[in-house]
Amino acid sequence: SSVPRIQLNDGNSIPQLGFGVFKVDPDETARIVTDAFEIGYRHIDTARIYGNEEGVGKAIAESGIPREQLFITTKLWNDDQGTRSVFDAFDASLERLGLEYVDLYLIHWPTPARDRYVETWRAFEELRASGRVRSIGVSNFLVPHLERLLAETGTVPAVDQIELHPAHQQPDTVEFAEENGIAIEAWGPLGQGKYPLLEHQEVTDAAAAHGRSPAQVVIRWHLQRGFIVFPKSNRRERMAENFDVFDFTLDDAEMEAITALEREGRVSSHPEHVN
Ligand code: NAD
Repeated sequence: SSVPRIQLNDGNSIPQLGFGVFKVDPDETARIVTDAFEIGYRHIDTARIYGNEEGVGKAIAESGIPREQLFITTKLWNDDQGTRSVFDAFDASLERLGLEYVDLYLIHWPTPARDRYVETWRAFEELRASGRVRSIGVSNFLVPHLERLLAETGTVPAVDQIELHPAHQQPDTVEFAEENGIAIEAWGPLGQGKYPLLEHQEVTDAAAAHGRSPAQVVIRWHLQRGFIVFPKSNRRERMAENFDVFDFTLDDAEMEAITALEREGRVSSHPEHVN
């Protein structure tokens, strides 16, 4: 069954389910992304810092899939924030990907201590105007960082990609994003395998009730909340399992029980402190 699309605030749309390649070995990326395409994924989330844009590009080139059917995201790393450095970093990413444009380009972290994200965002506006980026967004931005972008620039980010899973739901950021038409991308949707999300009884009960796996239940929770997700796995059978989530629905009680798992279970760094 086909993946629903989420409408973005700039008129573009994005497949709600994709495949993320954080920690996918650069030497294996082309093979693994090829597996993802064969399974049916069309949305790939990479970043310069993952070191595997070339592998993503190789899989795209060899796939024969028409470019307009793909949705490719990459991200600007922290030490490239600025103006000229943004254009140079973007050119280099595009070249490694072997593409004429990316669908979505993100500021990877706000890095408030550098105080360059407003300047960086103005460069992103120029990139979008050039046509080589279709949509621009941010990642790991909290409410104060979003408020500042909205106050000081003319473009509302299309998305904010934040750590989000049932144990860490960031309600303040989600509410602000919803009020301002910013779509939420949930990274670490399965708790990165670090937080024991898939062992909670609320998850395993729903899995048993639907005859599905705990991972499929958590992915359904995200989709039904309206979040964009791109769970990662190196294993083809899990990649297929994570994609096979469009023929069952969690009921309200199951959704509420999983939502009640909120417990500040952040698995990664606090955005205020990343530089
Ligand atoms: P994730 O929550 O997708 O967890 C991946 C891990 O979950 C796997 O390594 C595996 O251990 C486990 N897993 C996957 N499928 C499973 C299944 N079916 N059953 C059981 N276990 C399973 O974590 P992630 O990879 O960090 O997040 C997804 C994507 O989000 C990344 O690949 C990347 O694209 C993006 N991301 C972005 C940022 C950011 O700062 N913007 C940070 C981290 C990740």
